[in-house]
Amino acid sequence: MNSNLFVIVDATFKDNLEQLTIHRMPGALPFAGKYRLIDFTLSNIKNSRITNVAIFPYGNYRSLQDHVGSGKKWDLDRRRDGLFILPPKSLYIAPDEMITFQRMYEHIEFFKRSSQDYAVITSANLVWNIDFHDCLTYHVDNNADITEVMYKNIRLKTFIISKKLLIDYIMTYDSLEYRTMMELVEKAPNLKVVIYKHQGYTRTITDTFNYLKSNLDMLRFDIGSSIFTPERPIYSKEKTSPPARYLKNAEVKNSMISSGCLIDGIVINSVIARDVIIKEGALVKNSFIMSNCVIEKDSILNYTILDKQTIVKKNTQIEGTLQNPYVTQKEQIVSSFQNLRVLLVASESYPFIKTGGLADVIGSLSRNLARQGIDITVILPLYKKIRDTFFESLKYQFSKTVYYDEEKYKIRVYRYQYKKVKYYFIDNFTFFDYERVYGYENDADRFAFFNKAVVNMLDDFKPFNLVHINDWHTSLIPLLLDNSPYKDLKTLLTIHNIDYQGIADNKIIKKLGITNFVFKNEKINFLEIGINTASKLSTVSPTYKEELKYEYYGKNLTYSLLKREREFYGILNGISSTFNPLSDKIIKTNYSIDNIENKLENKLYLQKKMNLLIDKNKFIIGMVTRIVEQKGFDLILNSFDELLNNNSNIQFILLGSGDEKYIKELIKLEQRHPTQIKLNIGYDATSPNYIYAGADVFLMPSRFEPCGLGQMIALKYGTLPIVRRTGGLNDTVDKYDVITKKGNGFTFNNYDSNEMKITINNVYNLFVSNKKDWNKLMERAMKSDNSLAKSTQKYIEFYNTIIEN
Ligand code: ADP
Repeated sequence: MNSNLFVIVDATFKDNLEQLTIHRMPGALPFAGKYRLIDFTLSNIKNSRITNVAIFPYGNYRSLQDHVGSGKKWDLDRRRDGLFILPPKSLYIAPDEMITFQRMYEHIEFFKRSSQDYAVITSANLVWNIDFHDCLTYHVDNNADITEVMYKNIRLKTFIISKKLLIDYIMTYDSLEYRTMMELVEKAPNLKVVIYKHQGYTRTITDTFNYLKSNLDMLRFDIGSSIFTPERPIYSKEKTSPPARYLKNAEVKNSMISSGCLIDGIVINSVIARDVIIKEGALVKNSFIMSNCVIEKDSILNYTILDKQTIVKKNTQIEGTLQNPYVTQKEQIVSSFQNLRVLLVASESYPFIKTGGLADVIGSLSRNLARQGIDITVILPLYKKIRDTFFESLKYQFSKTVYYDEEKYKIRVYRYQYKKVKYYFIDNFTFFDYERVYGYENDADRFAFFNKAVVNMLDDFKPFNLVHINDWHTSLIPLLLDNSPYKDLKTLLTIHNIDYQGIADNKIIKKLGITNFVFKNEKINFLEIGINTASKLSTVSPTYKEELKYEYYGKNLTYSLLKREREFYGILNGISSTFNPLSDKIIKTNYSIDNIENKLENKLYLQKKMNLLIDKNKFIIGMVTRIVEQKGFDLILNSFDELLNNNSNIQFILLGSGDEKYIKELIKLEQRHPTQIKLNIGYDATSPNYIYAGADVFLMPSRFEPCGLGQMIALKYGTLPIVRRTGGLNDTVDKYDVITKKGNGFTFNNYDSNEMKITINNVYNLFVSNKKDWNKLMERAMKSDNSLAKSTQKYIEFYNTIIEN
């Protein structure tokens, strides 16, 4: 039967667990089968008798294409209508929250060709069983322009709209304020929007909690049988393998075991995918284990998601929670981490020397690694500033000669024990005795020498299991190791910011005494060499890792990174627990979620300190940042005149240092708005904590942001971040949703000053009009968990994988 609906499926998965699969109840079939999320959507379409479907995938959609094939399983292999997979025209688009009208415009022929009068726009990350025709009837009966489908008060990114109206919006996408159906519903005043409430089990897979929960839900008879009903079956492609084998020690309770498994341990309330081996003495509870994993003897897993082909070594204990399950990455090896000796090498580390976020990360990561039992050593150059501040406390260790450019240089090595971390500083007058850390003509020589000195020093230490290097300043270490007796020593290169690469004359290689290097041209690129030679790679947020696949972000190194895609991981940084408004010794008044009203005193104090009008009703936008192109200063300079002219209630406080070019323009901006803007130029010119505690919002409109610490600190202090959705900002700030009231801050998508300005105005309107929601948002922000403990744990797992491989 022909239907009056066609369907647009938004398959924008940004999750790491790309093969989002949900397992079904062990019902009539002898073996548990696997369903992809797309199967739920396509089965709902088939069950609603809809025949015309377009899937809009994003990113690597090949596996989706393979899985869906011709659409035969869902009767979508038609001549007329049928199933279409419509990828984005440009590979360089960043993932959006939802399919945009712009992306629909790219495939406008599909819409024009469809003979149906209405469209469903839905998302492919839903586990539910719905008849779209009921929604259409409701839509028509209510004479609505748009019907939004919700479950309880949860938005499902599912809408019904007439084809005519939809095409109108698609055709004019470039002149609209609304980019998606979501925004249209929120902002378009003259539309009749009605809500259709779907009954019955529904879950959106937006995070690992929902992912694990929906899998475990299928083990409950009431839920499983309501999703998998004989009248409205869920169709999937089947695979065949031999039945699971249970050996003599096996014990299985309320679990689903797929074919091909070999079980000799205990499995309770868990879903086990194909070809998993669980050995004697192992216990798996409340977990989802993907295919081809091995869980060795006597290991214990609780609330864990193991991605494909993970190996859990014997005697390992993994303990997650339902809210925050422990998740591995594909092919990871997990083991207990006793006696791991790691050498961390970087160009800066807090509290010794700091120019930016890198120092914070190295300082706090090393402390946390040590706290978790890792034997950690950090090596830094002894810059003049460290010598001046710390020299009294440094203990001389040994001297050495390092050859560089056929000259002999003497290094003196000093030690400092900082909490449980052993710091070593390399002293050499020629290369390191400088006022600043970077910015000298011979930077390439300085850091090449540093790398060589580190490798030469290895003889003086007990052997390390792994060397963790950071950014271009340490990127020649793997190459130097390859040309040393330490060839087998494993290395991890973490990229904190791809914009700094260390491009230098290729003579550097010869100066290091390396003779077997194949040059591509006269220049070498330190970071590129690191990417090609380190054992594994990581960067500081999952989103940035994905973004680096696109030239807009990855630039000249996109291809080198793509080549190492399988060995490249994104691990989000965290902030130290010392960022806490309750115990902060600098700010005016301490506060926490329980007495959030005390934050106001910090606002008034900040206004006083900055010589601004003291008034709680003013709206303070704060920024603490390096003043460089990356941080979005072009957007600010483009839009702040208008923003401030139109709203005298906005106050803007900026603490930063950096490019003269921007500073000059910012000073002019300040002069045009002297009562509204206060600039503090310099590093630590005032304490950043005053701003983190006193501002209402914290602005980070970055063009790109590998991780970003500012927004995490702001969240902790209940100062709501306004950020562009890129890199780590995307991983840490959830956009406030006016309807569900979820989220912990505000985001905008494009690097566009107008979009930023509109967002700030919307945020301001919420600030003045709805204090209740605003306070709730502050609470949620303060509850965000971006702790270092979480990211440290991830690094430890990764270290283990590298060593075991
Ligand atoms: P990046 O590493 O790119 O500079 P992050 O947001 O990751 O950016 O880290 C910046 C860190 O440096 C934050 O802790 C921020 O508070 C601090 N910071 C930046 N500029 C200044 C400044 N002028 N004075 C004091 N602290 C600053």
